[in-house]
Amino acid sequence: ILRVEDLQKYYGNRGSVTRALDHIGFCVEKGEFLGIMGASGSGKTTLPNCISTLDTVTSGRIYVEGEDITALRGAALCAFRGQKLGFIFQDFNLLDTFTLEDNIYLPLVLASKSYSEMSTSLAPIALRLGITELLKKYPYEVSGGQKQRLSIARAIAKDPEIFIFDDSFSALDFKTDSQLRKALKEYTKDATTVIVAQRIS
Ligand code: ADP
Ligand code: MG
Repeated sequence: ILRVEDLQKYYGNRGSVTRALDHIGFCVEKGEFLGIMGASGSGKTTLPNCISTLDTVTSGRIYVEGEDITALRGAALCAFRGQKLGFIFQDFNLLDTFTLEDNIYLPLVLASKSYSEMSTSLAPIALRLGITELLKKYPYEVSGGQKQRLSIARAIAKDPEIFIFDDSFSALDFKTDSQLRKALKEYTKDATTVIVAQRIS
């Protein structure tokens, strides 16, 4: 599902360069659970940002299902972001002027889902993650752990090929990956690939 080849991501300019990723390479099989561990500042966020096309790479290639995503542009890039990936951000990236429910629906609306399709598929996921009562609230009205579950529900509702969690577990509701795996297993295909970046101290 994923092949990273000789990936480099440098920040800054000639005066001060940060080599966040320096010649990284690995493969991930469909359905695998991959952990990326490291201290703060070790490049855990940079790698998922490159894999998800939120950031550009300095050099190297990233293949998803054989397609080089570093070369995607325009509509093909939008389709990749919209369909293949469920990204759970370190700070959750919820839109503050939308209710939690509308935050979940936004990517589905962009994928042309009908309201009845969206609400039917969300109901059991919301129940399982314990956020049913929160759906009409706004992000600033709920706790960090609740935002975390909301952003997991948003990613699950998209039914993506790959989930990427960027440091979304530290001190929050899902303490162990086995708990999370159970929740993911119930609502995703067996072939779903999970990548978790996690800070270690
Ligand atoms: P982690 O998520 O493991 O804490 P990051 O991937 O966020 O680490 O950062 C890796 C390194 O790249 C750090 O040294 C950080 O300071 C640097 N870095 C990250 N983003 C930028 C940026 N936009 N500009 C310059 N340096 C950056
Ligand atoms: Mg990070």
